[in-house]
Amino acid sequence: IIRLDRVRKSFGADPVLRDVSLHVARGDIFGIAGRSGAGKSTLLRTINLLERPDSGAVVVAGRDLTRLSKRDLRAARQNIGMTFQHDNLLQNLTVFDNVAFPLRLHGMLNPPRLRRRVQACLELVGLAARADEYPARLSGSQKQRAAIARAIASQPEVLLCDEPTSALDAEATRALLATLRTVSADLGVTIVIVSHELPALAALCNRVAVIEHGVVAETFAPTDTTAPRITPLGRELAFHAT
Ligand code: ATP
Ligand code: MG
Repeated sequence: IIRLDRVRKSFGADPVLRDVSLHVARGDIFGIAGRSGAGKSTLLRTINLLERPDSGAVVVAGRDLTRLSKRDLRAARQNIGMTFQHDNLLQNLTVFDNVAFPLRLHGMLNPPRLRRRVQACLELVGLAARADEYPARLSGSQKQRAAIARAIASQPEVLLCDEPTSALDAEATRALLATLRTVSADLGVTIVIVSHELPALAALCNRVAVIEHGVVAETFAPTDTTAPRITPLGRELAFHAT
């Protein structure tokens, strides 16, 4: 459902993505690992063209986003939900209104349907009881889950998550991973998740790409722990090179 083909991106003279090609299949929970500064966030942001690559193709659901008009790109982006490392919730809105926000912005649903949709999203992430709270009163995991509910409210086929667990302790991390599994299993949403927390990626993903020096150094399926492993990162992940 996602294909990046020879994507390059520099900031000034600084090449961050030098030649990135990867393929994410429909239904994947796909991890992107790599050191701090490796370009993980930049790569994630190219998938919805928040960063426009200098060259290369970004194909999502069959369309090369780099070739779309502004208007078509806006429409295509509705098919791609995203959560950010800092949860990015609107502090002066309740959890319910945060999740409803993109739906209202696009005027997609009448009020009763909107209410049902928002409630369903909140139930899915385990926040139904918190609908009327303000973000400041939520825990770190609850904030990330609210951001996930908001990102899936417009029923995208793809969900991008940038470091959803980086601010969380072990138990909150487990809760968040369980939520992402539910989103994947119940909605069939394809998930791309960036993290430097290798155990979290190993526990969640069916495939992981490691970014190094601006390229995909390797791709793993984190199931077989006995197979030969290549890089130190791969060893740390105990991942099986494919
Ligand atoms: P981290 O694990 O710390 O989040 P990362 O792998 O997500 O790191 P990026 O945020 O993608 O890395 O950044 C990769 C490089 O690109 C860094 O050197 C960063 O300083 C640079 N960079 C990122 N965004 C910009 C920007 N908008 N302008 C200039 N340089 C940028
Ligand atoms: Mg980052």
